[in-house]
Amino acid sequence: MSTQAPPVRVEPPDWWNLIAHQRGCHPAWRWLTVETIDHTVPRDQAHCLVSGGVYSTLVKSGPRKGKPNYGKPDPGTERRLVISFVELDACKAQWEAETGKCSKCGGSGEEGAGWSKEGGSRYRTCTRCNGSGKAVTP
Ligand SMILES: [Zn+2]
Repeated sequence: MSTQAPPVRVEPPDWWNLIAHQRGCHPAWRWLTVETIDHTVPRDQAHCLVSGGVYSTLVKSGPRKGKPNYGKPDPGTERRLVISFVELDACKAQWEAETGKCSKCGGSGEEGAGWSKEGGSRYRTCTRCNGSGKAVTP
């Protein structure tokens, strides 16, 4: 078994957080749950309910010690946002235009392909950019 640390992976931004921050949420705001509101309509008409807050209180004991306590958001920071998939796609397109990188893999050319207890994270060639890591112009 290799003891080498895994290479630092390039990841695309978290789009929900990005949109929330664009809408004026605190820079430390992060989403906790995302649910699709309308399952029966086509994706380009559907919306997601994104809930989250700022979690600067840390867990004091137990296995999650030192991790953010998601049960205790900072007072007044909880937000629920309705974000459409159209807005999500627009956000990705804008990011690609600004960075020149593929929005699916974040420029690494690889996308996550699941996780297993034995092998850890698995990756495969990004299906959007075909492994180039570059923005794909529609
Ligand atoms: Zn890609």
